[in-house]
Amino acid sequence: MSNIPDVSHFSSLDNKRLIESDKAHYMHGYHAFDEHRQHGSLNITQGDDAYIRDAQGQQYLDAVGGMWCTNIGLAREEMAQAIAEQTRQLAYSNSFCDMANDRAIQLSEKLAELAPGDLDRVFLTTGGSTAVDTAIRLVHYYQNCRGKHEKKQIITRINAYHGSTYLTMSLGGKQADRPEEFDFLTDGIHHLSCPNFYRAPEGVNEAEFLEGLVAEFENKILEIGPERVGAFLAEPIMGSGGVIIPPAGYHRRMWEVCQRHDVLYISDEVVTSFGRLGHFFASEAEFDIQPDIITTAKGLTSGYQPLGACIFSERIWEVIAEPGAGRCFSHGFTYSGHPVACAAALKNIEILEREALLPRAREVGRYFEQRLRTLEDLPIVGEVRARCFMACVEFVADKTTRTLFPEALNIGEWVHLRAQKRGLLVRPIVHLNVMSPALTLTHEQVDFVVDVLRESILETLEDLR
Ligand code: PLP
Repeated sequence: MSNIPDVSHFSSLDNKRLIESDKAHYMHGYHAFDEHRQHGSLNITQGDDAYIRDAQGQQYLDAVGGMWCTNIGLAREEMAQAIAEQTRQLAYSNSFCDMANDRAIQLSEKLAELAPGDLDRVFLTTGGSTAVDTAIRLVHYYQNCRGKHEKKQIITRINAYHGSTYLTMSLGGKQADRPEEFDFLTDGIHHLSCPNFYRAPEGVNEAEFLEGLVAEFENKILEIGPERVGAFLAEPIMGSGGVIIPPAGYHRRMWEVCQRHDVLYISDEVVTSFGRLGHFFASEAEFDIQPDIITTAKGLTSGYQPLGACIFSERIWEVIAEPGAGRCFSHGFTYSGHPVACAAALKNIEILEREALLPRAREVGRYFEQRLRTLEDLPIVGEVRARCFMACVEFVADKTTRTLFPEALNIGEWVHLRAQKRGLLVRPIVHLNVMSPALTLTHEQVDFVVDVLRESILETLEDLR
């Protein structure tokens, strides 16, 4: 953390008061209430490149990348300048009706240029959830415009994550965890199996597993009726679900099923775009598909501003915006096309291109994958799943049977806490440690991540005895 001032003097009293205030007023999503009451939170006050520092001055290499999002790294002066300049020039303007602003227009043009095929139309949103929500509304709108009013059922996968609004949380298949705590929409949403080969039935090889998944999809469409299925929604690699890398050819085969049954393919690239997998968009470059709709957010601004986008095909546009039909898409958010957020995205893309961070991510990403896989020799590491700058370590109580530790043990948290005290942050999700660091990570920093993880897992093993 060379180029930011040390504010660790801000610790003790001020921080103690803030921690108490945090407990008293600030409700965090996904933080167990009892944990929060007892231990409070880690108050982060500074960030620089791949590092963050807490209020006590403790520095961490943030292998979480904020939340899959700090792609170009933190504390970039030119990002601060672009944001400040835009704030001075035009801090806000809406994108409703006939209103537009330079930055929103420029960003839409740039996204159309970067997105695959004829994905030339852009609707700007406030983040990933609103991008996915927009995509579903667009599917419904499109089908209505075609007179296919029944064709609106959406098929997704168990263990997917598509956001935290009522609709997007229902689309994700993770609700099975605690169904008693939240209500979910069930009408019009169907879930397929998660394409996790590590959890495939015993004796099934990868090719058979793939055939089973494709057949399940096609059968599901036939069961619902192709005339009722509007879209298939999938992350290229499931992120929060545990970096699930599907069997080779999976997306292409699922896309072909969509083509056969006139089902739109929505690729949720909120995590996988803007370099995380070494490309601006992974759908075509990594998975050989041309989706009808791509949703993105996170790395779009590298977290410097909240922003998302729903990018869709000219084919959809031609139907919904048929000349003379007199329609308009009655949808939008106050902060759609926010000029400051769009200025941040434009500068972020400029940096990704100028510094050739995408090819760099592919190169260092390969090293990251290889080094992480060396952890598989440890007795509680069941599998390391890694592709470029998305990675996950899955812990198991028994490597042969792949049996998990009891959920209440929270094994991911055990390793995470031991890594944290060594200056590394990973994201614990029950029996997983998930990682998505800044794309600027060096080979030495990769070594640090893997070495610290090894020590932390070994210490966990000792403590478990
Ligand atoms: N889609 C995917 C694949 C995500 O991983 C996320 C967030 O992690 C979202 C959508 C929701 O994005 P946001 O939190 O910006 O609303």
